[in-house]
Amino acid sequence: MSTDQYVHILDIPFINTTKEQFIAQQVLPALSQNIPLHIVTANPEIVMEAHQNPRYHQIVKEADYVVPDGIGVIMASKLVNNRLSERIPGIELFERMLEIAHDHNKSVYFLGAKEEVVEQAVTNIQYQYPGLDVAGYHHGYIDIHDQAVFDEIQTEEPDFIFVALGFPKQDEWIHHYKGIVGKGILMGVGGSFDVMAGESKRAPKAWIKLNLEWLYRLIKQPSRLIRVLKLPLFLIKVLWGKYIKKG
Ligand code: UDP
Repeated sequence: MSTDQYVHILDIPFINTTKEQFIAQQVLPALSQNIPLHIVTANPEIVMEAHQNPRYHQIVKEADYVVPDGIGVIMASKLVNNRLSERIPGIELFERMLEIAHDHNKSVYFLGAKEEVVEQAVTNIQYQYPGLDVAGYHHGYIDIHDQAVFDEIQTEEPDFIFVALGFPKQDEWIHHYKGIVGKGILMGVGGSFDVMAGESKRAPKAWIKLNLEWLYRLIKQPSRLIRVLKLPLFLIKVLWGKYIKKG
């Protein structure tokens, strides 16, 4: 592949690809060979957290792939003159993987969110993908080293494990799990179970097209303001990093 396969933003290596290329070139081969993969769908908040938290930074850097989730990451890639091909929203990658699991008879485990939320999400997903092999599910209010949950998942050996614990917890859990088990496509999916359960909604398509999904979420959940305010800080840090390197 070209030398532009990765775009580094605040020392996080983003794979420069499209959703469908990523599925075809990274996910499907790993799935067929039972190679475990840790995928991080990183938005600016995740990059900022990694920038401030050395342990999390290490975990994200050790993940197999970091894909750009959020228009802020695409804007940052333009600032470093190395534009990423497209934004790959975590929820869309999640839905695509559910489709693949369904079509290829692969098993799926869901870890995270509140008990009633994950239960409803699994019910809705089973309705949407009839016959999907659900290896199990568990709520996310656990210690990341909870051995019982760990053992349950390990016994099932699922092909896909979707972890909705919010960051950095979800990636810490995946990092720990992947270091011990031999297989599984592992991805942190943040608030996606809430969306699947119908507890929260994605923005209307027109807003998504206009890259205004962040604004829609802010209107629905004003408590996200602190998180949104991190975006300008993130872009300033990216610019600062660019000029410091040149200087
Ligand atoms: N959550 C969890 N365990 C925790 C903390 C959070 O299972 O200890 C769940 C929470 O219920 C929600 C998800 O993690 O379903 C995080 O959602 P958030 O909106 O923070 O994620 P985002 O998509 O913004 O990264």
